[in-house]
Amino acid sequence: MNILILGNGQLGQMLGKAVIQQGHQCILYSDRQQQVMPLASDQPLPMSLEEAKSWADVVTWEHEHLGEALVEQTHDKFLIKAERFNQLTDRRTQKSLCDELGVPTSPWQAYQTTDELRDILSNCDKAVVIKSARGGYDGKGQWRWKPGQDAEPIIQEAGQRPGIVEDMIPFSHEVSVVAARDHHGEQRGYPLTLNVHNDGILAYSMAGAQQFTDELEALAQQYHQKLTDHIDYIGVLAIEFFVVGEGEQQQLLVNEIAPRVHNSGHWTMSGANCDQFNLHIRCITGLPLPEFLVAPTLMINAIGVDGLPEVLWEASAADCHWYGKAPRPGRKVGHVNFMIDTFERGEKLASQWCDELIKLA
Ligand code: ATP
Ligand code: MG
Ligand code: MG
Repeated sequence: MNILILGNGQLGQMLGKAVIQQGHQCILYSDRQQQVMPLASDQPLPMSLEEAKSWADVVTWEHEHLGEALVEQTHDKFLIKAERFNQLTDRRTQKSLCDELGVPTSPWQAYQTTDELRDILSNCDKAVVIKSARGGYDGKGQWRWKPGQDAEPIIQEAGQRPGIVEDMIPFSHEVSVVAARDHHGEQRGYPLTLNVHNDGILAYSMAGAQQFTDELEALAQQYHQKLTDHIDYIGVLAIEFFVVGEGEQQQLLVNEIAPRVHNSGHWTMSGANCDQFNLHIRCITGLPLPEFLVAPTLMINAIGVDGLPEVLWEASAADCHWYGKAPRPGRKVGHVNFMIDTFERGEKLASQWCDELIKLA
């Protein structure tokens, strides 16, 4: 099949490798650059978007911030309805969707203008996170405020674009479910992934080490199924959650939904028989969902460094991925997967390597 992938960052590249592995071809399309995979393909480049779309049997994406014009021009080859896609790309409609379906999410309020934001904060007596409705990633487009703090600088900056004000959640953990839904409405996911963030950006993820109760695992899959059934979604979609409460009172609150492959699913490249990229391509080309075999894995992001330490490349237990991007502080440039036997071993490796692999400033 011919697959048009919108976006050509690292997620697009990793999707592209899965496309080739499964015997298809793809074009990675961005406004600045196009790339055909496999390179032996005889498609002349550059192609206009219109040409790329007519070449394609199906259009998919590496990220959801595509912009209205791009969605408008390509959505007739999406596997989901454009209005559903758009609903997932704005935090306001994303949160409303959770509320509508009874999927718990952190309490929130929407604002349109600086005046509305000022109004919300002047009536607020708890710590909050203010988030732009569209376009944020890696903690960008977010501001934190607590009572007693001067709100005006935040109001001036955040109020320039519509957004939401969200309660600050005292979570015990952050987790995500990366799961797929196929053409027949079958859904299947990897085990819950534990995610640890540093300054709003994912530092490391760990999965497969049986860290969570069966109830929590089932709840995450159930919420995923509810949301993806409603959207009639096909492919991989990730949901980030906050874990709140203790013991049997443990609950999941949706933080955000990412209608695509996800950084917290990179561990599957080493820890699962079918990784998230292959899973997505299987779904969009109509293959059945695989049964998963998973092994405990730790994934550490390489952020802002200009290379991975030699010792990691040399170590057989570390599976290194480098994205070929110019390093800048806070920019994801690669990741390393470690096979682990226990959760404790994973925590130990994370504390050993995070400082060396992550440069935020
Ligand atoms: P991503 O790169 O995952 O797309 P993002 O920029 O879209 O990130 P969020 O996932 O909304 O942003 O927030 C980034 C991180 O900030 C969260 O993973 C969490 O650690 C923290 N955070 C966000 N919202 C809240 C909240 N309401 N309460 C507590 N912490 C929060
Ligand atoms: Mg996000
Ligand atoms: Mg997030």
